[in-house]
Amino acid sequence: MALLSVENLRIYYNTPVGQVKAVDGVTFEVREGEVFGIAGESGCGKSTLVHSLILRKPPMVHVGGKAIFKGRDLMTLSEEEARKIRYTELSIIPQYAMNALNPTKKIKDIVWDLAREHGYRDRDEVEKLLRERLAMVKLSPKVADMYPVELSGGMRQRATMVVSTLLNPDLLIADEVTSALDVTTQRVVIELLHHFMEEGIVKSIIFVTHDLALLDKIADRVMILYAGKMAEIGPTEEIINDPAHPYTKLLLESLPKMGIQYKKKKLHGIPGYPISLLNPPSGCRFYTRCPHVMERCKEEEPPVVKVGDDHYAACHLLGGDSSE
Ligand code: SF4
Ligand code: MG
Repeated sequence: MALLSVENLRIYYNTPVGQVKAVDGVTFEVREGEVFGIAGESGCGKSTLVHSLILRKPPMVHVGGKAIFKGRDLMTLSEEEARKIRYTELSIIPQYAMNALNPTKKIKDIVWDLAREHGYRDRDEVEKLLRERLAMVKLSPKVADMYPVELSGGMRQRATMVVSTLLNPDLLIADEVTSALDVTTQRVVIELLHHFMEEGIVKSIIFVTHDLALLDKIADRVMILYAGKMAEIGPTEEIINDPAHPYTKLLLESLPKMGIQYKKKKLHGIPGYPISLLNPPSGCRFYTRCPHVMERCKEEEPPVVKVGDDHYAACHLLGGDSSE
């Protein structure tokens, strides 16, 4: 069952020189009980996409499409309605989680403010919950009485994860939460996310990363974004072992350590740069870098084609109906 259903979503930025089409017609769903990965190079729109679900502030504008979450369109919620569901139904661990906590407050006060805002009245009960969750992420109960600056980077990361999940959100968004961490701490964070799912603290997770190798460890399904558009979506295993889109293939080949299939290949980055999203060309957005580019790629937007069970990609090489 879909917990979140995103349909043809368009999120742009208004700038003095025009609209930046950061997310330009993206469709996907996040199912109950799954970790859904969103991957792509920096600037592909993945952060914009997930942040638009939580809070849209100028210059970010919602231009079109829907994001149905538990029966409501997140794009049409009032600020008050959005505030109500934040932390309790939909929560985000921000990209710079280590520095996300208010430095002037103790962890227990940060948590109490949050809980009170959502109707909790019993401070002892909230502090008991906080201590339980701290134990769950292997932090001492003393952390409750500490200021964020008194904690090491890794401890702060875990404390932020506790704060983001304290009120049992159905959907947890983790935006590049592991990118600033060493490999050991990355592993701990991924284990904790799994643990949150197993314990029923969260129902589903959207895991955003530029690192496909990480998705292999955590995500059930993955969506690859390129320049604001979906390039490919499907089960992680299939995307990694049998990618259909030329961009996904290049992304995988640029990885230093990926399963057996890609291990022996010579490493190389993807040549060229993503196009400007200010006036993106018609046709396939990847055509300026694609080794398989054809004439039609420059004019016709590739249709989304089914390439496997639950697996889709948008590329002219894959055939499909292009009756536009
Ligand atoms: Fe390459 Fe054309 Fe496919 Fe785009 S549609 S990925 S340019 S082959
Ligand atoms: Mg980002």
